[in-house]
Amino acid sequence: MIRTRFAPSPTGPLHLGHAYAAFLAHDMSRAAGGQFLLRIEDIDQSRARPEWEALILEDLAWLGLAWDGPVMRQSDRMPAYRAALDRLWAMGLLYPCSCSRRDIAEALAAPQEGAEPVIGPDGPVYPGTCRSTAPPSGPRPTDRHLRLDMARAMARLGPDPGFTETGPTHAGRFPIDPTAARHEIGDIVLARRDMGTSYHLSVVVDDAAQQITHVTRGEDLFEATRMHVILQRLLDLPTPLYHHHRLIRDEDGKRLAKRDDARALRLYRSEGVTPQEMCRRTGL
Ligand code: GLU
Repeated sequence: MIRTRFAPSPTGPLHLGHAYAAFLAHDMSRAAGGQFLLRIEDIDQSRARPEWEALILEDLAWLGLAWDGPVMRQSDRMPAYRAALDRLWAMGLLYPCSCSRRDIAEALAAPQEGAEPVIGPDGPVYPGTCRSTAPPSGPRPTDRHLRLDMARAMARLGPDPGFTETGPTHAGRFPIDPTAARHEIGDIVLARRDMGTSYHLSVVVDDAAQQITHVTRGEDLFEATRMHVILQRLLDLPTPLYHHHRLIRDEDGKRLAKRDDARALRLYRSEGVTPQEMCRRTGL
């Protein structure tokens, strides 16, 4: 049975791009007699607001998109994220890091680093300043970021890690190469000091908990997928199929962002645009 999900962050109004993502996930599951789930990605409590979440539910109802089962809310899921971090810590794959963005930029600008910094899924690949040769022991610290030691992680991965992509721009099988993972992704933060988790960790734990078989999301997240598959392997979780879709852009070719209030669904709604017309405007 196909299970898809729509996973918005309640940090602003939904816009036309979200409508596209939601229609796509919904229609893909319904066409196959499957299920469509909703997850509110609110781990960033400094930006998430209950009023944005309420508006998401209203907008989806207006679009005629009904989801199956209860809404999953990431802020309710901290125990599951802590359990995953404890497991990775016990495997010796995490280390604490106190570097600020500025420390990282300075380390990367140092003359001995030479080449241009590689940009990974979360910005410049971490230069490894806080990494130690022996895996850290003792209780897992919660007062610093926790990074994945990518070299150690890749050594634990088993044969043929990779994922299958069914989206229009990248369709095919994508193997994960250990050297490329070290150089192009690097030691990513899995628990932010201020959140106790991260997008990458939470999305992996939750897609598995919701038994998602097909992850549909914007192609801006394609590059993060290798990271997610690595975490699935480390945590013995299944790897779903991935379908990255195009991003809806404005007339200037810029992708829509939350701040583009002009295309907020609630405004179309207040102007009397019909949900059918919305579906047409997304190009679906
Ligand atoms: N919460 C993310 C967003 O609103 C989506 C993450 C995902 O689909 O994996 O862009």
